Amino acid sequence: MSIPYLNLHPQNLPLKQELLNATEEVIDKSWYVLGKHVELFEEQYSKFSNVAYCKGVANGLDALILSLRALKIGPGDEVIVPSNTYIATWLAISTVGATPIPVEPRITTYNINPDLIEAKINSRTRAIMPVHLYGQSCEMDAILNIAKRYQLYVIEDNAQAQGAKFKNKLTGSFGQINATSFYPGKNLGALGDAGAITTDDEKLSKEIAMLRNYGSEKKYFNEELGVNSRLDELQAAYLSVKLPYLSRWTSERVELARRYHEQLRGVGDLILPAVALYATHVYHIYMVRTARREGLVEHLNKNEIGTLVHYPVPPHLQKAYAHLNYAQGAFPISEIIAKTCLSLPLYPGLKNEEIDFICNTIKKFFS
Ligand SMILES: *Cc1c(COP(=O)(O)O)cnc(C)c1O
Repeated sequence: MSIPYLNLHPQNLPLKQELLNATEEVIDKSWYVLGKHVELFEEQYSKFSNVAYCKGVANGLDALILSLRALKIGPGDEVIVPSNTYIATWLAISTVGATPIPVEPRITTYNINPDLIEAKINSRTRAIMPVHLYGQSCEMDAILNIAKRYQLYVIEDNAQAQGAKFKNKLTGSFGQINATSFYPGKNLGALGDAGAITTDDEKLSKEIAMLRNYGSEKKYFNEELGVNSRLDELQAAYLSVKLPYLSRWTSERVELARRYHEQLRGVGDLILPAVALYATHVYHIYMVRTARREGLVEHLNKNEIGTLVHYPVPPHLQKAYAHLNYAQGAFPISEIIAKTCLSLPLYPGLKNEEIDFICNTIKKFFS
């Protein structure tokens, strides 16, 4: 039995005819950028997220960058960010000229620890960027409380958690403006790069609409230094085809995670995902931890089971961030996560027998 880390076929192949029909519609309309399909998807995704506005952009990183720009965050400003996240969250802050201020996660949930945020706030702090890592919502009430007390913006990085909730409210609907990604492997994936922002603020939504399109509202009249970061019609049409299936895929992910949990509980030194009080998890990634990661990876490889490491090097130790001068040991919780984490296959269409085979193979390694 050969099981890849990720297989998108079970999601996309059954929709092939619908996706081809969507392609044909775009070609027949002969309108490829910022048209009816983008507008329709923006409306559908704002409804799904329970926010007033959604604006499609080219990818998740741009969604983060443009969110910061819409809030006029730039040089001299500081933004609080988890020390363990995909580098995109940090890059967005650096791209606008602000400084990422890392805060360690809880070792239980891997999400930013709200108890450690206040100590990092000073007069330059402008915003907190929580990341709902691996698909689990951050503890949003604590984060919003701090933001309110210090008059900071909240910008959620919701790239991994579409459909997750905190106290029954969807991620991507808490911050002043929030970013998400529809990279093909995300829980809602396009057939290429795509992203979006969600917000309840009409002014911010209009600002994004301008920034993504050369800073222009009226063609050839440019009000600010914008960029070209538009969601294209084809990707929007594909996302409209796929969005109605997202809840079903999420339930399937939760069920697969439950099956892993049942069989892997108490096996070797494995630490399984834990969910915080009031948060839900949509399992974009099923991450386990073990001190024997390298051996386990090798054993799984030999048995043709794919795995990945999310992520092997935390942003503060990346070469790209050498200029911030963080030493090894600066963020020990993130560093121990990076050394011990291992992501197991989990995607809609993964079969129960496959999960059982993976679990049995893992049990053999530890026995
Ligand atoms: C994927 C991802 C992004 C960036 O999305 P792209 O569409 O690849 O630019 C940002 N943040 C997190 C946490 C992600 O997982």
